[in-house]
Amino acid sequence: MFKCSKIKDIYSQLKSGISKVLQSLEKNNIQSAEYEVEKLLQELEQQENKLSKGKDIELDEFFILKQQIFFFKNYVNLWNKIFIEEYGESWVELQNCLDKIRLIKKFLYDSSFAIIQFFESQLLELEQLYPYKIFMSTSLIVDYYKCSICGKDIDSNECEHIKGELYRGKIACGIANKIRNMNHIAMVKYPSDKRCVEIYDNRSEQFKLVRYLSDSLRSNKLNVISFHHLKFKKGNKKNKSIYKQGRNDLCQCGSGKKFKKCCQNKMYVVQEHVDIVGQPTHIKCILA
Ligand SMILES: [Zn+2]
Ligand SMILES: [Zn+2]
Repeated sequence: MFKCSKIKDIYSQLKSGISKVLQSLEKNNIQSAEYEVEKLLQELEQQENKLSKGKDIELDEFFILKQQIFFFKNYVNLWNKIFIEEYGESWVELQNCLDKIRLIKKFLYDSSFAIIQFFESQLLELEQLYPYKIFMSTSLIVDYYKCSICGKDIDSNECEHIKGELYRGKIACGIANKIRNMNHIAMVKYPSDKRCVEIYDNRSEQFKLVRYLSDSLRSNKLNVISFHHLKFKKGNKKNKSIYKQGRNDLCQCGSGKKFKKCCQNKMYVVQEHVDIVGQPTHIKCILA
């Protein structure tokens, strides 16, 4: 996963901590997972201080390692929000998790890691349980974008940094300087930020699928690590408000038409059904 021996060492030291986080999640013990993540973050900070004068490549690789640990913080938060039925907030954490995965995949020279593949496929499945299909996208008018590394205008010749690249463990990005106005808000299907969504009440119908998952977890029918994928099915369900009649009888709704020409075709309604499919997962394989 890493090229530098120093970073490899740090990673192998942190691995037992990561494993403890996953073991706690396997028992649906969110509190213990939170505790283990905090310990990991402290360890990470100590290592970062030791490394401050390291080589460029060491700092860059440490940045990736850091994203992994931050990922686990978001990941534990995500499941915590689902457990405590704060579904809107859990969506934000889900996006934070996916952002970290994208960053890790971008910089890691070998992204075929089991750990990344496992979480990415799990989270993309989870995303489908949410009601958000359309997103808001804002367009801002700003004076200029300030480079996060040198502080100059990132689009000018004075700044020699490239947006999105790493410089001694720090990512170069443009920070909006003096937002003059918001130009417009657009409704889009593929936004740059999926956090811009309509707000629903956590008890609303829109969250029924996530709520179903939450119930399955809280009753221990499923554990966080074994959540694997969703199966969407369509089935016919009897419409309770219509009873069976002879085809040529006058329809029950009082329309004066024959049943076969009126409400008979409303006797069944198509219902979408989702199964949450779990799969036994071995932490050892994820961490391999
Ligand atoms: Zn710059
Ligand atoms: Zn009818």
